[in-house]
Amino acid sequence: MTNDRWLRGVGVSPGIAIGPARLVLWEIPAVTRRVVTPDQVAGEVERLRQATAAVSELLEDLRERTLQRAGTEEAKIFDAQIMMLEDRDFMGEVETLIQQNQLSAERAFEFKTLEMRALWAQSSSYKLRQRVADITGLQVRVLNQLVGRSELVPLHDPTGRPAIVFTRELTPGLTVQLEREQVAGFASVEGTRTAHAAILARSLGIPCVMGLVEGLQRIEDGMEVILDGAHGLVVLEPKEEEVAEAREWEGYRRALGAEMEQVVGEPAVTMDGVAVSLRGNVDLPEEVETTLHFGAEGVGLLRTEFMVLGRTELPGELEEAEFFGRVAKTFAGHPVVVRSYDVGGDKFPASFQSPPEANPFLGWRAIRVCLDHPEILRTQVRALLRARTHGDVKLMLPMISQVEEVERALEMVQEEVAALKREGVEAADALPVGAMIETPAAALLAPQIAERVDFLSIGTNDLTQYTLAIDRGNARLAGRFTPHHPAVIQLLKLVVEAGDAAGIETSVCGEMASDPLSAFLLLGLGFRVLSMSPPTLPLARWLVRQVEVKGARQAAQGAVHAATTGEVNAILEARIGEYVDLNLLQASRLPGVNAQTSFQGS
Ligand code: PEP
Ligand code: MG
Repeated sequence: MTNDRWLRGVGVSPGIAIGPARLVLWEIPAVTRRVVTPDQVAGEVERLRQATAAVSELLEDLRERTLQRAGTEEAKIFDAQIMMLEDRDFMGEVETLIQQNQLSAERAFEFKTLEMRALWAQSSSYKLRQRVADITGLQVRVLNQLVGRSELVPLHDPTGRPAIVFTRELTPGLTVQLEREQVAGFASVEGTRTAHAAILARSLGIPCVMGLVEGLQRIEDGMEVILDGAHGLVVLEPKEEEVAEAREWEGYRRALGAEMEQVVGEPAVTMDGVAVSLRGNVDLPEEVETTLHFGAEGVGLLRTEFMVLGRTELPGELEEAEFFGRVAKTFAGHPVVVRSYDVGGDKFPASFQSPPEANPFLGWRAIRVCLDHPEILRTQVRALLRARTHGDVKLMLPMISQVEEVERALEMVQEEVAALKREGVEAADALPVGAMIETPAAALLAPQIAERVDFLSIGTNDLTQYTLAIDRGNARLAGRFTPHHPAVIQLLKLVVEAGDAAGIETSVCGEMASDPLSAFLLLGLGFRVLSMSPPTLPLARWLVRQVEVKGARQAAQGAVHAATTGEVNAILEARIGEYVDLNLLQASRLPGVNAQTSFQGS
């Protein structure tokens, strides 16, 4: 359903805020063109140094504030800006610009940061693009200092109610700088779930929507709005009934939050005593610690694409081994399942020469690339064998569609075990290998695959995409994309039965695991290991503790024989409703949660 008073974006920090809109244009101040005379050059350099010293002090102050209000990890967000100001090369180049081109301090600083900003914004590195907001923050601060403009944004809301701040780009500094009592929510045009400011907003518990596709044209200062940070929605000038509905959902969300808090640290065991292992999916190194804090019992899917995307060269064996070893130590006593590179389509390291493909998702990707370029997989295997001396790391192969792919990869593992031994390198003498089941072909061949590997893990995002022939990233088809399609459910059943028959673990690591209704279905089908995006772990723990496997099994039996998704959902809801309040459940479900992850399909 759409509505012309609705603005769509991405929900990055859950919660509902209702209040007046406040436009905060955190703008880079205009800098006048000014050339300095040779005898003024030394004075300009001094002015630059004083301004950067003042900004450093301010940033240290903000870091301290963040430490108090949010925590150590969050406080580190300011380190990037502080480090840039302390970077002798960077600051040296600004000073050289003043000296050689006789530019004013502000012109020289603006020139250098614009250059860097353009470089980072165009970079194919996911991480660098995420950091563009750091440069903006620095530009605004240093230039404000130099032109004598105050950087504190007055919120002055005449009604005294906390405001919903709308801005083009939400910087971490702005997020923490605004007084919590004055801010009910944030919305921005730029940004994604993994932006620093989004992480901060979540830590501070401030609802936030980013990526407002329409921009800020329709926002007026003081206009009444509802912001829904879970669903990525802003409602302009809401009607009374919309406000009432929003308040009701918020009530459910809070009630659910309170219930989830009570089970932190409690074991994930169902009412009828079945233990479930809850693991985290990790996309980026900085998520490792938070995954642990969300209570993950290991990493069920460590995506390694971040190591190659945007780089001109593949990382070396030792660099990979160091990272895998570090994660293994963090999760001591629990498994860490490392997936070999799921590159393909447009996700290639810059050094790779690959012609454009008409159908990249049916193309040369993942295991197909790794087997055609065995040196890539061999390096990962060797790194894992080294890291296995530090903990329980395992290898997982994505996009399997043929048994031969598994066999070839297993041979390589054997060959590298022997090679490392010959070379006298300290490494494990075996590596558990698992297959991802994310194509219908692999699901149907699960019994044959299960005989050859140590574990199976179902990537339900791709399995749904390939079974239903629905592009997981196509927003127009998002309503049709669901792992609750009976065909997908039948495949899930086949796979878990194949794993059980072979006596190996079968887990689910697609986003499906994080949806409570789906998790109930999975428990009923016989899955006991679920891996999901870390922030959804507390909800899964809560859910597991509310239900009985007995009831879930009955629901799953019905779902397997259903003809339509509607029937499946009706069966699941009727049964789960015996254990939990369906309204609570509804308030916790994110639309499209099964469709998206950060690297694929976006
Ligand atoms: C999946 O396909 O379900 C999966 C976990 O892998 P990715 O989302 O990285 O493709
Ligand atoms: Mg996948």
